[in-house]
Amino acid sequence: MDETKLWEAAQIEIGLHLTELPFKTWFAPTKARLKPDDTLEIICINNYNRQQIKKMYDSLIQTSVEKVGKKKYKISYAVETPAPDNSKVAETPLFKEATNPTTAAERAGLNPKYTFENYIMGGANQLAYAIATSIADKPGRDYNPFFIYSGVGLGKTHLIQAIGNRILNHYPNLTVIYCTSEDFTNDVVESIRKGKDASGQNMETFRKKYRKADVLLIDDIQFIAGKEKTQEELFHTFNALYQKQKQIVLTSDRPPEAFKNIEERITSRFKSGIMADMQKPDFELRAAILRAKRDRNHDEMPNEVIDYIAEIIQTNTRELEGAYLQVLTNARANGDTLDVQSAQRALTGITGQKVRGTVNLNHILQTICNYYSIKQSDIKGKRRNKEFVLPRQVAMYLMHDLTQTPYMSIGDYLGGRDHTTVMHGVRKMEGELKTASQTKQDITNIKNFIYQK
Ligand code: ADP
Ligand code: MG
Repeated sequence: MDETKLWEAAQIEIGLHLTELPFKTWFAPTKARLKPDDTLEIICINNYNRQQIKKMYDSLIQTSVEKVGKKKYKISYAVETPAPDNSKVAETPLFKEATNPTTAAERAGLNPKYTFENYIMGGANQLAYAIATSIADKPGRDYNPFFIYSGVGLGKTHLIQAIGNRILNHYPNLTVIYCTSEDFTNDVVESIRKGKDASGQNMETFRKKYRKADVLLIDDIQFIAGKEKTQEELFHTFNALYQKQKQIVLTSDRPPEAFKNIEERITSRFKSGIMADMQKPDFELRAAILRAKRDRNHDEMPNEVIDYIAEIIQTNTRELEGAYLQVLTNARANGDTLDVQSAQRALTGITGQKVRGTVNLNHILQTICNYYSIKQSDIKGKRRNKEFVLPRQVAMYLMHDLTQTPYMSIGDYLGGRDHTTVMHGVRKMEGELKTASQTKQDITNIKNFIYQK
């Protein structure tokens, strides 16, 4: 494979793992050169492009090139034209257009991938989402400060950054600053270390930076606990901005009243505006988040597999996304078709235990079809003849009973039926089992056939 083809193929592979914006920003302008010693040199358009791609995507590049090139390559990074001075980063070609939201977002410390467009709203985050979008439309007006709290991996960082990204899109002239409370602390420490600045005052640079914000977004504020000087600076920053009706948004892993080692005058300010918590997503929201991710990335993941992952991973959205990726990469690496069985195998590793029985849906369906002498399409189809309705309901019951697959996924599997239909079928069969009917005998027989395989 020549260098152009190799890099093109690798870029396609890389593209599968990224959303459009970072892909376009970082990869689209690159080229590659293959050296005699099997080093693939990625040629970037400028120094900033080179730094970022290397810092953020080195291992993804390594594995993608190896995969499409079918052997190991060394990867190196170069810049096409002489590297510009680092202090002029903002003027490098990548960021020349001031109107380009990526530019402003990056300068504000925001990751452009965190947008409202790819944030899925559900019961668990409804209030926080509504307030966040409203703030993004009219910063500094109605909800100030806005305090978001939730457990880890439930979307705080995504939401607070979505506010920043949208504001920059709609109001490019506003100054948005996104930082974590650790960044904030670092800036305090740095200012102290530097001592008095040119104007003869301590902390002046620090204050200039934060007090020019129209929108100040501080993520994970809980880490200011026990840091007195940081708390003091935050207190003054807060007051200065608040008085000028500048928007302040904070996130935390707990509500203000649960803080320890944070001064009362600060926590009471956190509480003075509006607060919203976010809960763990329920099954429907988890499935919706994964479906959206699949569609965005153009992954070929069937709904029933997505539903299966959403059913198994209930902890938080970050782990949910991790499981999704695990299922996808496992199937790709092993050349498996992406079905519930291959997902089961992939997730066994994650949960550290066998997550489901060994019978699979297809085996159950086939056994039922053999038993009643009908075709799979009769069960998956729409016809409501008696000779199909019963086997269909038996299938619903056995799939639920033997694999604990969620109703929604069974519905998807059986020709796109609604989960309430599946639930009804399962209940009906449970009723039959309490009687001495022929159906009860059928179910017992079919179970025996299923386990004879
Ligand atoms: P936190 O900051 O609360 O720990 P993050 O914002 O980092 O959580 O979210 C973890 C991951 O889950 C991120 O990749 C984020 O994009 C994703 N995520 C969380 N909630 C949602 C949601 N409602 N819709 C889409 N993606 C979400
Ligand atoms: Mg976070």
